[in-house]
Amino acid sequence: MRIRRKKDPEAVRAEGRASYARHAEKRRQEARDRRAAGLVKLDPIKAGAKNDRRRARLAAAPGSYTPAEREAVFYWFGFSCCNCAETNNLTIDHIVPLACGGANSIENLQLLCLECNSAKRDKPEVPPRRSIGATIWVG
Ligand SMILES: [Zn+2]
Repeated sequence: MRIRRKKDPEAVRAEGRASYARHAEKRRQEARDRRAAGLVKLDPIKAGAKNDRRRARLAAAPGSYTPAEREAVFYWFGFSCCNCAETNNLTIDHIVPLACGGANSIENLQLLCLECNSAKRDKPEVPPRRSIGATIWVG
């Protein structure tokens, strides 16, 4: 198989896709069973970083950060919303939104509660009500 993959990688990939197509529902059910059995744990930090990588790729945004850096944002901002100090339902926010040309890098991340993040939407300029560091909001 390894030799065949080297010789004709496209054919091997096509076989894999065809196999998945034949057994897609079975494979999805197996994955659901593994999650239900607690064999697969979703790491919210890793999942969030992965989701941001995808969003950045789609927006053609520059920059990248690691899951460890994402976790550090929570510590940096003391596990509370940069805007209203709420400590529940915290989200990582891109200060300058990816959709507005902001980078997917740690310098462009802040901690907002879900409510503040939803209110901010894709606006980079919201006047600060509370600031921790020097560049919490871009205004
Ligand atoms: Zn808030």
